Amino acid sequence: MTAPVIVRAPAKVNVQLAVGGLRPDGFHDLANVFLAVGLYDEVTATPADRLRITASGPDADQVPLDEGNLAARAALALARRYGLAADVHLHIAKDIPVAGGMAGGSADAAAALLACDTLWGTGASRAELLDICAELGSDVPFSLVGGAALGRGRGELLEPVETGGTFHWVFAVADGGLATPAVYRECDRLREASGQGFTAAELPDPEPSAALLAALRTGDASALAGAVSNDLQAAALSLRPALADTLRAGTQAGAMAALVSGSGPTCAFLASDENAAKVVADALISSGTCRTARTTSAPAPGATVVG
Ligand code: ATP
Repeated sequence: MTAPVIVRAPAKVNVQLAVGGLRPDGFHDLANVFLAVGLYDEVTATPADRLRITASGPDADQVPLDEGNLAARAALALARRYGLAADVHLHIAKDIPVAGGMAGGSADAAAALLACDTLWGTGASRAELLDICAELGSDVPFSLVGGAALGRGRGELLEPVETGGTFHWVFAVADGGLATPAVYRECDRLREASGQGFTAAELPDPEPSAALLAALRTGDASALAGAVSNDLQAAALSLRPALADTLRAGTQAGAMAALVSGSGPTCAFLASDENAAKVVADALISSGTCRTARTTSAPAPGATVVG
């Protein structure tokens, strides 16, 4: 009997998410600086007589168990490429909030891809795995590589970004998710309403912040705090105004920076050290403005075989 393969993949926060105008193909060009953080999903791949998905963890009831699951789609994509049957049981131990703007589904896709590659002995090259990741979704390549990276295009064209230290983060997990496409639509709507235009022809190309990249490189948390930005934040707040209370609660508790993580509704807070992060997390929990708060550090490694 073939032994199960276990792969762990990290959540991400976008320390910069610069969103260009709407392209004719319906996507937006991005300058997206990803940072992998130490919250992980774990995918266990076991040989089975057909493709089967199960999930455990606090948000397991929100995870689709059919072929719409990104982990299933990853297994199917790899099997198709190598002419194999995707006869595998993928169990997802889910710790990343679902629809939380932390790329949990993408983490599961990257983890499932690596797990199936190992289980089936397909020996796909890194470039092939990244190619499959890019087909599966804009955030999936980053879940495979981890660390920090700049994503251009829809976010899938990745360049590694150097990091020079450990950053301490707190994540306030909201009740209920936000659908990423709805947040982009709201961003377009707000831009149009403000008169600045919303199409790629009307808006400047998004560019990475030199100050932000320097802060990551030198490990300078206060400089990073001054440079973080998220162009989707206004849209997430417009759809979920109560997130303003969450951001305020974290700032009042001493967070150096407070921002919505990606498309939200998870809120991310940068803290000066581990103790400050605990203080912020406790204050967020007692504020009643979130379901729970988690402390962690970054950068975290990408998808890794752990068993
Ligand atoms: P991102 O930050 O990449 O925009 P997200 O973290 O906001 O994504 P996900 O947790 O990836 O959102 O889930 C978004 C939707 O994708 C879910 O509502 C669910 O229907 C679907 N989905 C597909 N596969 C998975 C998976 N393995 N885990 C969670 N959701 C999944």
